[in-house]
Amino acid sequence: MAEVSGPKWCERFPGSKSPDALLPDFRGRLLAFISAMERGGAGVVVTATYRPPERAYLMHWCWRIANGGCNPGDVQQMAKVDIDWTHRGDGAAARAAAGAMVQAFDLNYAPALDSNHCHRRAVDMTIGWHDTLSVLDFEARERHIKSTPRDGSNRELIQVGATFGVFKLAGDPPHWSDDGH
Ligand SMILES: [Zn+2]
Repeated sequence: MAEVSGPKWCERFPGSKSPDALLPDFRGRLLAFISAMERGGAGVVVTATYRPPERAYLMHWCWRIANGGCNPGDVQQMAKVDIDWTHRGDGAAARAAAGAMVQAFDLNYAPALDSNHCHRRAVDMTIGWHDTLSVLDFEARERHIKSTPRDGSNRELIQVGATFGVFKLAGDPPHWSDDGH
């Protein structure tokens, strides 16, 4: 029998935090970008790289049920994920369990069902620095970033990332990929 949804599902189908799990081409560009930021004094912490499709499925649908008004009974089934989103038809329990999964996944942005993470072409990373970040872009031009915020949403830093072929997804603070999605 299918097992009801809830935070215990969030530990199954774990994702990777290692750049080694990414496609070689994107991994090379990402490591060069991270190295350039770190040489300039930024702190960079990679929090997610590869995501199994089963994990993307759980993340996508718990968000949709908790925040998107999706009817739990309308969620498609997925092979290898024997989950009961409906809690045997108890709508309040189903939405509460989906909300607890959103918390456990620490989601702040609607996760795509077919995410670039599943294709080893995306990374989530937390970036920060103090004062001015001096960084060499891919063309070896030195950039002095004095603007704020001093994090991954900084517009000048996003331009530097693009020179490496690492593109920001607007609105999803930690997320970068090889095409900006
Ligand atoms: Zn992401």
